[in-house]
Formats: sequence, C-alpha cells, structure tokens
Amino acid sequence: MQSKENKVDQEKIKEAVRMILEAIGEDPNREGLVETPDRIARLYEEICEGMWQESSEVLDKTFTVKDAEMLLEKDITFYSMCEHHMLPFFGKVHIAYIPNGKVVGLSKLARTVEVFARRLQLQEQMTVQIADAIMEELKPEGVMVMCEAEHTCMTMRGVRKPGTITTNIVTRGVFKDNEMLQNTFFQMLKG
Ligand code: ZN
Repeated sequence: MQSKENKVDQEKIKEAVRMILEAIGEDPNREGLVETPDRIARLYEEICEGMWQESSEVLDKTFTVKDAEMLLEKDITFYSMCEHHMLPFFGKVHIAYIPNGKVVGLSKLARTVEVFARRLQLQEQMTVQIADAIMEELKPEGVMVMCEAEHTCMTMRGVRKPGTITTNIVTRGVFKDNEMLQNTFFQMLKG
C-alpha cells in the first residue's frame, strides 16, 4: 500500500489511458477523447481514495452504552472496483454487531464501508476487512456483515444475466456458529 503522501500519479494514468486508446484503435486526439485521460486520472484519485484512509481513524470516536443488544445498520450502498478486471461492482452492505460497552455513530459504519470499497477489491475480501476492522476497533461481542453486489465484470460480459447478485456473509465473535443470532440478523434485515 502507498503512503499517505504518495497519492495517485496522475501523469502516469494519463499516459496509460492514451496507450489503451491507441491499442484499441482509437484516436486519443479526437474531440470526444482528448480530455478522457485527464478525466480518468482524476476519477482514480477519487475511487481509490480508501487506500489513503484508515478505518481506525473513522471508528475512533465511540460512546459507552450499557447492556446494548444487537445493532443493525442495513442497506449501506457502496461502489467498488473489482481487482481482477478493474470494473465496478456495487451493491449493499448490512452490518450487525453486539457491543461490549462501546458503540459508534451509525454514519461511522457507512464511512468504514467507504474506506474499504474505495480501492481495488474483491467482494469477499472487502466483507472480511469491514468485519475485522469493527472487531479490532470496537471490540464487540461479535459482528456479522453481509454483502450483496452486482459485478459488472460478470454482467457486462454476458457470463451471467444482468442483475445477478452475489451474496456473502462474514461472522466474527459470538455470531460464529450461532444459528439463533444469525437468524435474528436475517429477521432484522427483513423487518
Ligand atoms: Zn472481476
């Protein structure tokens, strides 16, 4: 991973995009394309922003609560980039955790998702990183994260039908192997 000071090398991206355009037989100097390398360079600065952020900075402000039960933040929208094809995958993340005295503002969970979504990713890896960050920072009794995503590298290329959703779940702490807690998660998700 690059250091905080060392952000996207815009000139390198511009050069690379011009090369891709030439390689597919395009004219990088035609009107519609002349500013494309510059646009893409700025775009990457934004969609890879998570590389220079730490989830520990997002989750550092906690509140103390006694006897809190399961908290669920559902339908956190995210956009990420598949690291195998550098094409977008996007969807929703649902996060539940059982606090051990410490909770965070709900917007912080959405910000945590952003930190891990805004970089080249794999769905399973992103879900694990979100769950582990919450375990690490909040030290809850347990956490359960569900991710539902559409991968344009699959739907655009016609391997699967458009709209196909890939779903995965990561459980940590008391959620692991606890069917009752997992069912409560699914019921809260529906409700
Ligand atoms: Zn892919």
